[in-house]
Amino acid sequence: MIRVNTARIAPEGERLEGEEDSSILELESLPGVPVFSRGPIRYDLNASMVGRDLLVTGSAFVEFETECVTCLARMKVRIGDPAICIHMEKVPEEEVDLTPEIREDILLAVPARFKCSEECRGLCPGCGANLNREKCRCGAKRKKRGALPENDAWSALDGLKF
Ligand SMILES: [Zn+2]
Ligand SMILES: [Zn+2]
Repeated sequence: MIRVNTARIAPEGERLEGEEDSSILELESLPGVPVFSRGPIRYDLNASMVGRDLLVTGSAFVEFETECVTCLARMKVRIGDPAICIHMEKVPEEEVDLTPEIREDILLAVPARFKCSEECRGLCPGCGANLNREKCRCGAKRKKRGALPENDAWSALDGLKF
């Protein structure tokens, strides 16, 4: 749990820095986002009291390994909120659990799907070739068979001189 004792926060604020088990994010249950491995939640926060209100700012991230939705390449991603801002009104003078808010902030930052790059060309639906690093083999296969009428038409065109 990411906790702060509001009775003990110094006037200049209190820094909360550390790691938290990322199992609370339940990343494995996100639809469409496979998670192969994951690190802890890393947080760096500053808590301060404004009257009886608690103000928490800072950042929290988690790193995990997923795959590109189009080419299925494994990729490490770092997801979180670089500008957390939690404002709780009239908090009691005791320990306050910030975990639910942090959890929510990180989960809101997880996109519905991951792509290794904007230019990812994915896999050919015909031959499964990874079009980012290899050529589609569908054309080659067609040529080998060679007996398709459309191929004859193309070879006839090849013979023409423009
Ligand atoms: Zn990709
Ligand atoms: Zn292909």
